[in-house]
Amino acid sequence: MSKEKVGYPEKEWGSERQPIIVKVRTEERAAQVARVCDHFNWHYIMGMEFTEDLSDLKKALKERFAPANVYDPCPCGSEAKYKFCCAKTIKNFDLNQYLKTFPNESSS
Ligand SMILES: [Zn+2]
Repeated sequence: MSKEKVGYPEKEWGSERQPIIVKVRTEERAAQVARVCDHFNWHYIMGMEFTEDLSDLKKALKERFAPANVYDPCPCGSEAKYKFCCAKTIKNFDLNQYLKTFPNESSS
């Protein structure tokens, strides 16, 4: 018998069980979000709304970059521990900037 996890599901943003739900206002934004989600192979549900809401995406990205243990080596590749390296950057994570500068892989 396989061990099934019961109770609260693990936070797995972008999984089939917990897709990232975003609301965007413009086609351009939609394309940016789609690019990021495709890059990480995330499931997402996107809707066109008057008010933009990217909080799910932001959480997913933060979690993606932050190790479970803040004393683990930083995922950015430096030898430093995460807590003393990128933790601050992630805390002030600028999603807007991230989306704008995210490399467009299809145009290489
Ligand atoms: Zn770092």
